[in-house]
Amino acid sequence: MDIKEQLGQFTQERFGLTPDQCNDRQLYEALLALTRRLSEARPAPDGERKLYYFSAEFLMGKLLDNNLLALGIRDQARELLASMGRDLNAVEEQEPEPSLGNGGLGRLAACFLDSIAALGMRGDGVGLNYHYGLFHQKFVNHKQMETPDPWMQPDSWLIPTGKTFTVPFGGFDLTAKLWDVSIPGAYNDRANRLHLFDVEEPAAPPENGIDFDKTDIVHHLTSFLYPDDGDEAGRLLRVYQQYFMVSAGAQLILQELEERGCGPRDLAARTAIQINDTHPSMVIPELVRLLTARGLSMDDAIDQVRRTCAYTNHTILAEALEKWPLHFIERVAPQLVPIIRELDRRAREACPDPAVAILDNQNLVHMAHMDIHYGYSVNGVAALHTEILKKAELNRFYDLYPARFNNKTNGVTLRRWLEACNPDLTALIDRCIGPGWRKAPDQLVGLLDFIDNDQVLGRLLTVKYSAKERFCRELQEAQGIDVDPSSVFDVQIKRLHEYKRQQMNALYVIHKYMEIKGGRKPEHPITVLFGAKAAPAYVMAKHIIHLILCLQQLIENDPAVRPWLRVVMIENYNVTWAERLIPAADISEQISLASKEASGTGNMKLMANGAVTLGTMDGANVEIAELVGPDNIYTFGADSDRVIHLYDDKGGQRYRARDYYHTLRVEPLVDFLLSPELLDIGDPKSLAALWRDMKGKDWFMALLDVEEYISVKDLAIRQYGDRKSWARKMLVNIAKSGYFSSDRTIRQYNEDIWHL
Ligand SMILES: *Cc1c(COP(=O)(O)O)cnc(C)c1O
Repeated sequence: MDIKEQLGQFTQERFGLTPDQCNDRQLYEALLALTRRLSEARPAPDGERKLYYFSAEFLMGKLLDNNLLALGIRDQARELLASMGRDLNAVEEQEPEPSLGNGGLGRLAACFLDSIAALGMRGDGVGLNYHYGLFHQKFVNHKQMETPDPWMQPDSWLIPTGKTFTVPFGGFDLTAKLWDVSIPGAYNDRANRLHLFDVEEPAAPPENGIDFDKTDIVHHLTSFLYPDDGDEAGRLLRVYQQYFMVSAGAQLILQELEERGCGPRDLAARTAIQINDTHPSMVIPELVRLLTARGLSMDDAIDQVRRTCAYTNHTILAEALEKWPLHFIERVAPQLVPIIRELDRRAREACPDPAVAILDNQNLVHMAHMDIHYGYSVNGVAALHTEILKKAELNRFYDLYPARFNNKTNGVTLRRWLEACNPDLTALIDRCIGPGWRKAPDQLVGLLDFIDNDQVLGRLLTVKYSAKERFCRELQEAQGIDVDPSSVFDVQIKRLHEYKRQQMNALYVIHKYMEIKGGRKPEHPITVLFGAKAAPAYVMAKHIIHLILCLQQLIENDPAVRPWLRVVMIENYNVTWAERLIPAADISEQISLASKEASGTGNMKLMANGAVTLGTMDGANVEIAELVGPDNIYTFGADSDRVIHLYDDKGGQRYRARDYYHTLRVEPLVDFLLSPELLDIGDPKSLAALWRDMKGKDWFMALLDVEEYISVKDLAIRQYGDRKSWARKMLVNIAKSGYFSSDRTIRQYNEDIWHL
């Protein structure tokens, strides 16, 4: 039956209407049901070994468009709707975004599931079914407000499986109910699954913002992604979430092993577990527990687990490396405590250095240490990041287990981040080099043959301009703001964090504002676009959002500046906004303090859509710079060796913000935070707190790089005026982005780690 008939049958049964009588909402529900059914009917890929990708976050984004594409019926669906005078995009607007992740780490997990399925590998995701995911962000009085973001509707992607598992917490058991999301493979007729565990009786929606009773584990365990961990109740809930996920996940693995006719002794031969950051690390002692309960000796159980688990490190920020007090685990999962002690004892026996112990002298459990001792692979997520792990952060472990360390530079699925979000650019690429790049993204380098083709270069500029116009319409509709599509779109979209240095970009805005007020117009009108959520308990990040929103307002009110400089912060930045904004970006801001950004993936998405990177030599920017060459990227700032030197070994700094603040160019920029015009708009307390921090502490050294940043950014904006030369830069960036396809990343994971 073709999709026209299926759609008609569904709308008839469900609504008593023919498709052309349905509204967009009804058409969305019909397409969702049809797509879900087609995907669900697909068998799993073949393979002796099966991968389980454990992650506390899967930032999936909307799935309808993605799944229509993977099922190979997107064009058909579009044409069918068009024949009824309807628009598939409008129907897709109806889908709520499942925001089951914070940012890069969760989005990476989602790209990986897409690639694993597309490559026909047998691999499922394991995570939690958060009811509200990340919060919805609103701006009120130039400040971030958080509200719940419900995404589960009666019709959603969740497939009830009927499977349940009992998770034994200290003092009570909790039933984990399994829901699945089907993940269709783009280039085959198979599908994997994302397994999401949920409590049986989820709480009713909270009444007051995102506040809830964090001690009501039974009802609230899966309410929110990453609850505010500013207090002990929040941190404990986090451990409950983690154990719930890994215990149910480990039980599912052993059950599936049995269904495949295997026993617990076949675990390592038939299974690979990838631990995405340390949130799922308790899967190691939990599996040891379950295997010994099934009759294996401690030695054998540990041996199986060690040959099954592989760990991905995502950060070198010390505060992000999880260390849980043993008494938390005593409370949440007391049965793990003797196992963790035994794992620690054995690790100490093998290596007496206390720096590599699992339990330290304050009885903190170092989750990453457990992963490295009891896994067979440790990988960083970009070449520079892995080198820093080997040389500095995890150096002791590298000396112990050099063969376990390997690099897997991140990637993004070009199906979502080019083909689906930028159809005009996709069509242009197809016309130049044919469609083969989809399965072999390295073929994008074929675009370099067109580097002197004026027609292609001109077309590239036209495609970018129409993407900018489209974004302007969407922004106008969502936020009532008009921006000029012929201005330079300077885009910084990512979580708000001091190390990502949105505050340095804000100082650039102040610099431009002051120049324009002083009568010096920029070479080209500039629109600085931000998208960023701040963690609800991250005070400094909220001050930075406030500063940006105040600058936005200041400039809106100033008819002398407005034609030359605009600042827009997009409300509720999420995957959907990323898909709208990335095709429209001219400059990609990747300005983290060198050594702090493990990889970045936003940088890759923007590059593939023809944005030129303005960045530090950090994370995967280093690899981007190598690939495109110095003429096609703007780099600046202290390098990672210098930055690492500026931090001392005792948790302090050799860097002194004051020395950089007291210079002719920098001081007026920072002091502008306390200018009468800004204080008139903003909250004096917030602005003063940020001002004090910037001049007196500046932990992530914005003032170290700000002057060079300003001059390099001015250079980029000047060179933007040479349209033909800029189009060449765009073309080189697109041509070299094939390396950053997550299909490449997943092939490497499979060759070096999983061996599926
Ligand atoms: C890709 C992506 C990120 C990661 O961006 P970085 O610049 O790598 O930090 C964060 N949020 C969303 C919604 C994304 O799509």
